Amino acid sequence: MLETYLRHIAQLKTDRSANRWTDLTMNKAPHKAFTLLAVMDLFAIAAIEKNFIPPATDLVDNFNCYWELVMPHNKKSSMAYPFPRLANDGIWQLVANPDHIGKINIESISSMKKLRQVCAGAVMPDDLYSFMCDPTAREALRVEILKNYFAPEIQSLIKEQGVINQQSFGYSLNILGRTDQVIMFDPENEYIPKKVRNQGFRKAIVSLYDHRCAMCGIRLLTPEGHTIVEAAHIIPWRETKDDSPINGMALCKVCHWSFDEGLMAVDQNYKVLVSGRIQKDKNYPGHMSTLMDRQIIMPEEERYFPGLQNLEQHRNQRFS
Ligand SMILES: [Zn+2]
Repeated sequence: MLETYLRHIAQLKTDRSANRWTDLTMNKAPHKAFTLLAVMDLFAIAAIEKNFIPPATDLVDNFNCYWELVMPHNKKSSMAYPFPRLANDGIWQLVANPDHIGKINIESISSMKKLRQVCAGAVMPDDLYSFMCDPTAREALRVEILKNYFAPEIQSLIKEQGVINQQSFGYSLNILGRTDQVIMFDPENEYIPKKVRNQGFRKAIVSLYDHRCAMCGIRLLTPEGHTIVEAAHIIPWRETKDDSPINGMALCKVCHWSFDEGLMAVDQNYKVLVSGRIQKDKNYPGHMSTLMDRQIIMPEEERYFPGLQNLEQHRNQRFS
């Protein structure tokens, strides 16, 4: 019965405290609510095709987007807390990894690393799984979560984030040319909100470069899904409205800023160029000049390499 789950979902075991949690989350910890919304977003785009939900990157990304939208900047969290503990609410059962011996000790899990070590994923009761697959039932469950865990003034914002999570996933597959998997966007005729474009472009580019900075090679990806790299446009979006992978590179924050400022560029042989300005000014970090002539890191497939024309235009317009 859907009613049973609506009641169930309204009464998840969560930490309650006016000191720790503000009115925005009705003085309750929002972890489980965000996890369920993140799961629903994957169901909505048919990214979950069978009754098995792994604690994978796409789910963590969705969770983090909700968290960052609502929670203060200094309050960090991880999906490692709510994911296993939803088993205590009858939402799902955990499936242990094949090499894990014995029962999963839920209370011992406090990091994504540990979660992935012991747990392969979660299986829902069959009827709840059917409700999740059904758009009407799923949206009823979503409304119940919004109503019970979030203040009225932020409910529409959270609902909008759900749409962004779903559409940006489609947008990222679209710009990667993997259109067999999702609904097509037609950039010529369709208005695509900026938040959808930004999140979709980031998802596509960062995964193509496996979270590694194309220019300096740094790769710092925490198991909680936080990464040091950003998705950079070679030619700014406002100029050509081009989100295709050949107009993008994954760059760390320092390289992104330096690239945009014209302190760094990439030559026609895909080698890093460093501006003479850096060598003259001792305030710039020393490692930047050591990157000169370094071969940039590129995606595996040639069709996603940064476009030589775009790189040339960037050199001509910005690099000095
Ligand atoms: Zn870098």
